Amino acid sequence: MADGICREDDNRGAGNKKLTKSKSGLRIIPINNTARSPFELKEPTWSPDKENPECSNGKCGQKFDFLKRRHHCRRCGQIFCAQCCQTRVMLPRMCFVDPVRQCFRCSDITNAENVFFNSSLKLLTNGAQFDVSSPERPVLCQTAVTSDHRFIRFEPTQGQAPPERVEVARILSTEVTQSTIEYAPGQTLPEAVVVLYRVPGSVEERQVRLSAGPHVNDWRLSANWIVALERALELVYEGRQPSQH
Ligand SMILES: [Zn+2]
Ligand SMILES: [Zn+2]
Repeated sequence: MADGICREDDNRGAGNKKLTKSKSGLRIIPINNTARSPFELKEPTWSPDKENPECSNGKCGQKFDFLKRRHHCRRCGQIFCAQCCQTRVMLPRMCFVDPVRQCFRCSDITNAENVFFNSSLKLLTNGAQFDVSSPERPVLCQTAVTSDHRFIRFEPTQGQAPPERVEVARILSTEVTQSTIEYAPGQTLPEAVVVLYRVPGSVEERQVRLSAGPHVNDWRLSANWIVALERALELVYEGRQPSQH
């Protein structure tokens, strides 16, 4: 059931983006709706001015008038005074071109996510080796998230037929097995992950097992790739929920 490795297809839409302006700022989004990143968050609905006589930061409570103006946090959509919403942070998950105004709570969340995007996500796209069972006999594959973040693709090291790629947005759950080897006292790393996912255009569920077994070239890299995948999926699952907090 392998559908092959197709770099062109993986990158479909990468150069196919358009600029669009929302009330929150300038955004750059794929023209093709299906090419959206699984990490993307919807822009929040802005809380109405009328319902907010004062700053939403409970510790502040500044009353608004003609001099004290309202400012919307671009991430949560709540209303704050200028001081409580003055931090401008890059928010790639909403596709803004420039840093946007965020409240204290949201800027903390966004900063933590940006650390992820700048480190763990690079690890995922650089890839690692795994024994991949789907559920046929394991095939040793270079395994990576595609540059548009939409798929996990498998490239067999011995030129075999590749296992079918997994669409990140259609992953349902994962089950991680920890190694029994301690790399520090009481600390272990994952040695395998089973990924349950839906096939594109279908409700059929399948699973694939990635094992950092004895054949992989860098066991620790593969283990850290699983850790990064778990973190990435937290963000993907969060993006599926209607509320952002
Ligand atoms: Zn906020
Ligand atoms: Zn305030």
